[in-house]
Amino acid sequence: MRAVVVGAGIGGLAAAVSLCRAGHEVTLVEQTARFAEVGAGIQLAPNATRVLRRLGLLDAVAAQAARPSGMSFRAWSDGAEICRYALGRAAEDAFGAPYLLLHRSDLHRVLADAVPAGSVRLNTLAVGIDQDGESAHVTTANGERLRADLVVAADGIRSAARQWLFGADEAVFSKTAAYRALLPAAEVADLGLPELAAWLGPGRHFVHYWVRRGELLNVVAVVEAAEAAREESWTARAEPAEQLRAFEGWDDRVIEVLERAGRMLRYGIHTRTPLTRWSIGRVTLLGDSAHAMVPFQAQGAAQAILDAAVLGDVLAGATPAEVPEALDRYARRRLATATSVQAGSARQGEQFHLPDGPEALARNARMAAHAAQNAFPPFATAWAADVLDERTGS
Ligand SMILES: Cc1cc2nc3c(=O)[nH]c(=O)nc-3n(C[C@H](O)[C@H](O)[C@H](O)COP(=O)(O)OP(=O)(O)OC[C@H]3O[C@@H](n4cnc5c(N)ncnc54)[C@H](O)[C@@H]3O)c2cc1C
Repeated sequence: MRAVVVGAGIGGLAAAVSLCRAGHEVTLVEQTARFAEVGAGIQLAPNATRVLRRLGLLDAVAAQAARPSGMSFRAWSDGAEICRYALGRAAEDAFGAPYLLLHRSDLHRVLADAVPAGSVRLNTLAVGIDQDGESAHVTTANGERLRADLVVAADGIRSAARQWLFGADEAVFSKTAAYRALLPAAEVADLGLPELAAWLGPGRHFVHYWVRRGELLNVVAVVEAAEAAREESWTARAEPAEQLRAFEGWDDRVIEVLERAGRMLRYGIHTRTPLTRWSIGRVTLLGDSAHAMVPFQAQGAAQAILDAAVLGDVLAGATPAEVPEALDRYARRRLATATSVQAGSARQGEQFHLPDGPEALARNARMAAHAAQNAFPPFATAWAADVLDERTGS
């Protein structure tokens, strides 16, 4: 079959690879003139790395990654450890795939290299999708009409395809914003930072981890933010004074990292309201267009990669006439899980940002008690899900 995928982010590229592996011919249209991912880090949990292994891409991805031995949660004011969970070999043994930390462009490059070169059209903006009983068409800004048996709209959080399919609904501002930066490891070597840590404080949290085999430190500083900070752009930059004001009084190591980071990228975090269906006929959503979530369980891209795996699975051996029914099965296998991860990520943010006082103390005690009994955090239930072992009943 012929598939057109709209959008070459992590979701669209993973979908293109998965559909090619399932034996279909894929055209990928991307509005930007060249493949690009923002200069930031990404955590990939075992639910996603398991899929990358099935796609034959895990070794190439892992070669660029850092592999943390643990995940540390810390108190904002003095850095005291609230609890620590195991990752590394323990997570790999338990979940059958590794927990990896990556530079986003490294992951993006491995996925892009796995898509047949001739199938990618850069500088191509999709401006419409229509369909009849026989086929679907993607219209591009330069006047082409690309015929397909199947269209996958992986056009991200600002998805236009979602509006074309289901009518107008907007991305929802989460009232949080993220400051992000990458620092050369040598510039922070003296600080003795843990490999992967989240420092929790009132109305904000601070995450850092190594990427690119430990050569760079990725920093994400999340703050509750007013409407003024809602701009959703990876090119807006904050003033260092603004970052430092937001974390005034935090542990010295946090302040040091923020000072050394210089002007950080500032990004207003948005979500999408869960839908009750993702496809109409032979056109479907995938990734952030379907289920954008706050990033507090580091699962957005992972869920997009899972979507891609299931999409390839339901369409393996399918004929054009079977596409609408296969897309219904895809959503039946993915929608409830992705929706529940969206909700879990939002709850995680509320917990992270509790004001100082009895509730925060109770949270810390709960986390410590949980870690004393369990090697992995409560949200690791999502890491165990093997989307390709869920075929029964689908
Ligand atoms: C601060 C932050 C931290 C995060 N950390 C993690 C993490 O650690 N782990 C994790 O798993 N997830 C994380 N996420 C989530 C993750 O970044 C997203 O879920 C993921 O990138 C979504 O990928 P996507 O392919 O669906 O969309 P996108 O990456 O947005 O890609 C959409 C693509 O479509 C293109 N496009 C859009 N419209 C058109 C059109 N009309 N025609 C042609 N092309 C078009 C765009 O140019 C773009 O290339 C984080 C998110 C944030 C904000």
